[in-house]
Amino acid sequence: MKPSTIPPVPMCDVVGQYRDLQSEIDAAVLRVLRSGQVILGPEVAAFEKETAEYCGAKYAVGCSSGTDALILALHALGVGPGDEVIVPPFTFFATASAVCRLGARPVFSDIDPVTYNLDAEQLEDKITARTKAVMPVHLFGQTAEMNTIHQIARNNGLLVVEDAAQSFGAEYEGQRCGTLGAAAAMSFYPSKNLGSLGDAGLVTTNDEEWAKKLVALRVHGSEVRYQHKYIGYNMRLDAIHAAILRVKLPHVERWIAQRIEAAKRYDGLLEESGLVGFLRRPSAHPHGKHTYNQYVVRVPSHHRDSMVKHLRDHGVSCDIYYPLSLHQQECFRFLGHVEGDFPASEEATRTVLALPIFPEITAEQQTRVVETCASYLHQSIRKAA
Ligand SMILES: *Cc1c(COP(=O)(O)O)cnc(C)c1O
Repeated sequence: MKPSTIPPVPMCDVVGQYRDLQSEIDAAVLRVLRSGQVILGPEVAAFEKETAEYCGAKYAVGCSSGTDALILALHALGVGPGDEVIVPPFTFFATASAVCRLGARPVFSDIDPVTYNLDAEQLEDKITARTKAVMPVHLFGQTAEMNTIHQIARNNGLLVVEDAAQSFGAEYEGQRCGTLGAAAAMSFYPSKNLGSLGDAGLVTTNDEEWAKKLVALRVHGSEVRYQHKYIGYNMRLDAIHAAILRVKLPHVERWIAQRIEAAKRYDGLLEESGLVGFLRRPSAHPHGKHTYNQYVVRVPSHHRDSMVKHLRDHGVSCDIYYPLSLHQQECFRFLGHVEGDFPASEEATRTVLALPIFPEITAEQQTRVVETCASYLHQSIRKAA
């Protein structure tokens, strides 16, 4: 293998979908540029309607990013100072920062080491008189264990807010995320299942009052121009993103099917190459539809750094989601956690490795990824001998 002459296998291919849909996307963007309505307006309204239909939710409110969708959802549901919101510590930073932005306190509850999602069994211990909501994250493309979470939430009077940023199109017992809680936050960051060419997000809910409040909150808390009912935000969705996303939405099911197919191919290739004793493959929850926004394997911790280097040296991209659990972040020191508080999350930070996956990945690229993983293992066995 001459790594310098073969283009590397990327983690994702943002330009690929644009190339495939270029004439439609160009036309949609030009339509917005010529309309003069570049913020909110009819493109955003149409995108909201189409996305609500796709998710099976009554209302969808577009906004500026997935992070802002989390803030808007929590705010609309009344989370504020003095409240606690239970979140997993093994997730993207915004899950917990959104809680802090509202003056509330994130309370971490450890993950299930198999699915990487909230371990519903541990949830109940984290509930206090101040707990207002639980925010399960549907990490890497599959939903959390929603039945148990809802049961606990009901018994304790808690709201359930979905962080569905990584799992647009994922299902739990035949129901798409976006309808699995009181409200759900979606991200259209370019690498997500449905990605724009910039930042964009959306909140879904079935509650009319919350939907109205979300619509106001994203424009400075105003329902009537220059009259402010709430202290809101500027978290509007640009029409260009809505127009691009409207072109892409009808293709998202096919892209998810391609992700699932690519994941199955990895499963098979890893098995065939005898790597499954060394790498642990991701596992899909039997009650759900895993959309494989990421294909994350587990590597023995003492091998991970050298394996990352080997893959990258041989033209295979890979990444660590996430190298630190949120309770280990400097900005969350005030929560007073110590190492060992969330063992499953900490173990995940030491062993996870995300391999390239995106709808356009080819069988050849995947073979190369797995062969490079295998060549790492053979090399390290030779070194040890
Ligand atoms: C991407 C992501 C977000 C934030 O979305 P942005 O659009 O990047 O702001 C929030 N939570 C999770 C789990 C994510 O993966």
